Order: sequence, then structure tokens, then C-alpha cells
Amino acid sequence: MHRFKYKGRSLYCENVRVARIAKEVGTPLYIYSRNTLLDHYRKIEKALKGLSPLICFSVKSNSNLSVLKTLVKAGAGLDIVSGGELYRAKLVKTPPERIVYAGVGKKRDEIMDAIRYGILFFNIESQEELELVNQCARGMKKTVNVAIRINPDVDVSTHAYITTGMGQTKFGVDFKTAKNIFRSSWKYRNANIKGVHIHIGSQILSARPFRHAIKKVLGFVDENKISIEYLNVGGGLGIVYSFEKPQTAASFARKIAPIIKRSKLKLIFEPGRFISGNSGIMVTKVLYRKKNGRKNFIIVDSGMNDLIRPSLYRAYHTILPVTKPAGSLKKAKFDIVGPICESSDFLGKDRVLPVLKKGDLFAVMGAGAYSFAMSSNYNSRPRAAEVLVDGTRFAVVRKREAYKDLVRGESVRA
Ligand SMILES: *Cc1c(COP(=O)(O)O)cnc(C)c1O
Repeated sequence: MHRFKYKGRSLYCENVRVARIAKEVGTPLYIYSRNTLLDHYRKIEKALKGLSPLICFSVKSNSNLSVLKTLVKAGAGLDIVSGGELYRAKLVKTPPERIVYAGVGKKRDEIMDAIRYGILFFNIESQEELELVNQCARGMKKTVNVAIRINPDVDVSTHAYITTGMGQTKFGVDFKTAKNIFRSSWKYRNANIKGVHIHIGSQILSARPFRHAIKKVLGFVDENKISIEYLNVGGGLGIVYSFEKPQTAASFARKIAPIIKRSKLKLIFEPGRFISGNSGIMVTKVLYRKKNGRKNFIIVDSGMNDLIRPSLYRAYHTILPVTKPAGSLKKAKFDIVGPICESSDFLGKDRVLPVLKKGDLFAVMGAGAYSFAMSSNYNSRPRAAEVLVDGTRFAVVRKREAYKDLVRGESVRA
């Protein structure tokens, strides 16, 4: 469910006409619906209520400060993966006891910043990282909490680039290493191992791999008589981009709640895409139409630098006209491509769409997660603006970049 709907021929975000925002702010443009973000957050909150979990929104899926603030104000914590994300978390005044920090390559400075802020947990991804965290905490005369991220080696049927819980990925530690870490936990005087963490992948459509992974780690905890307080099950709930039939938050909760309840551990959950994915769209303008051989192309003003998911994962995003053409229902098959000088620069291929003309607008749906957050300045293209809609109002929450932003920090020497 989301709040991007047609009224008559016009696409609306909540109660604001998308075309109106595009006219005022220009394109390319990201639009987020504040109330869709909150709806999705509350769906999870409600589904898992019996477990009183800490729900930490995954900042990497959408790190806009206003998006973060919206969720933090509603009670969410944040799941961060870098010092930069910690910086954002601080800017929106996230209570430190609601922050968990994962990632395989944390640096000393990042670790010390997080200790200083007093975050709830580090999700530890290697024994050497645990040694460094312990050493930093000792140097700062503090004791920190950590959870061990275990790679449970379960197969998740999703794109290879977004599966993270198989044996051959870089994430977490295997059971053998985890066992060694727990056995030698006495060595880490300044790091209390308080939990285990898993995050098995993204865009997962059924609860089965979650259940499988959770059972595997809980079995490990039991077998080795490990005493911990927290179970962090990561994120990964899939959403609808086109014809997917993902589990609902409620059905996910029904499947995993009993085993978690039995374990008596406190639950941490780190959804990203489920909250932000369908809360955003990208709006782009038709620049040209052309035919090459037998293919019809529509060239639009946003490309893989703005939205890389189609190029990177062959991800499918529904593409809709922002204003449906009047009268004629003529449709044709098009590739929607961007201005970047790469053949992989496309938003959609072989799409049957109404025949729009130069200057008309398309909405790329499901662009709230891993979309603006993965954008770049490739081809020296300024990054798009971001807008947040709340009911009948909207605000620019990130200005469109200017050319001078492209060269900030550079100097001319020859
Ligand atoms: C990316 C990530 C998430 C969020 O994943 P989604 O698929 O967006 O829910 C949660 N936890 C960790 C550790 C991550 O890296």
C-alpha cells in the first residue's frame, strides 16, 4: 500500500498533484510520501507488538534527514553502517540507545565516534573487528555492547548482489568462528557480547528463509549454552515492484514470533526497503523519442546516476505517466533510457506505455529505497532534488545540486 494514486488523469502523492511539484521543483526529482513511510513503519510495529521489538530503520535504504526524522519521531531506531550514517543519526537527534551499527569495514575513528555517542550495539563482523572495538573502548575507559553477526549460510532466492547470508559472502562470521569468539569472550573485557545478529539478504518474499536462519542461530546459541540478551534478525522484507507477492508484515510476524518468544530474547529488527521502498517515486521528463532499428526509445532526463537499480540488479520498476494522455489510449513498446553514456543506462526495457511526447513526465514507482541513496554524479550530472509530501503540503528536503557542488573540494593544478 502506498499513497501514489491517480485522481482522474493525474497522479497524486497524498493530496498533492505530482505534476505540480515537478513544475515547481523541476526534474529529475524524488518525491516521498511521509504518511506512507509512517504507515509501513506502523505495520511492522503492530505486527510485532507482542515481542516489543526495537525497530531500527536501515539508514542506507534512504538516508534523507527528513525521512530519518519522520521515523525517529515515530519511535524508530536506526540501523547504521558507517560513520557518515552515524553523523546523520546524530543530526536528527536519534537517541543513542536506539542505534545499532553493522558493516564489515568499520574504522577506528568511526568506532570511537559511535562509542562516544553511546550506541546500543556494534554488530561485529569479524574477530579482528571485535579486537579493535574492545581496544578502542578500553582506551576510552568504557564498556560497550556488541552482537556477533553470524552468517547462517542459508540460501535466499533473491538477486545474487543482495543475498548476504550465504557461506561465500563477506558478511558476518561462520558458526565455527562464532563459537571461538564466544569461547574467548573473557578476553574482551571492554566489549560485552550481548547478542547475535543475522541479516540474510534483501527483497525476500517469504518468511521461510528467515525462519530457517533464526532456527539455525538459536540452535547454535542453545547447543553452546551461550548466554545473551538480544536477537537481531536484520532486515530484508520484500516489497511489490510489479507482480511480486511478498509476505505481509503480519504473516512474517506470525511465522517468526513463536520461535523468538520461546527463546526469551529481545528482538531487534532492521527493515529498510519495507518502510521506504514504496514511499518514494522518481519523476523524470521526456527529452526525445527515437527509433533505432526495430526499437523505440524514449530518452528521459534521469539515468543510472539517479537510479542505478535497473542497471545494477536488472531491477524492475513500474513506470507510469504522471498525467495520462486524454482521449486516445494508444500504447506502444519502448525502452526508457537515460542520458548517460553507457548502454546499461536504462530505467525500463520493452515497456508498453501510453505514447507521451517531449516534455511529458513519467513516474518511476518504488523508488524510495536504494534509489536516491545510491545516486552519483557520474557524467558530471548534479544530483536530483528530493521532496517530502505531507497531506496537502510539500517541502524540498534536499535541494537539486548545482554545478558548483560537482567540483566542491577540487582544485585546478596542471
Ligand atoms: C541493508 C541492511 C538492512 C536493510 O535491508 P532491507 O532489505 O532494506 O530491509 C538491515 N540490516 C543490515 C545489516 C543491512 O545491511
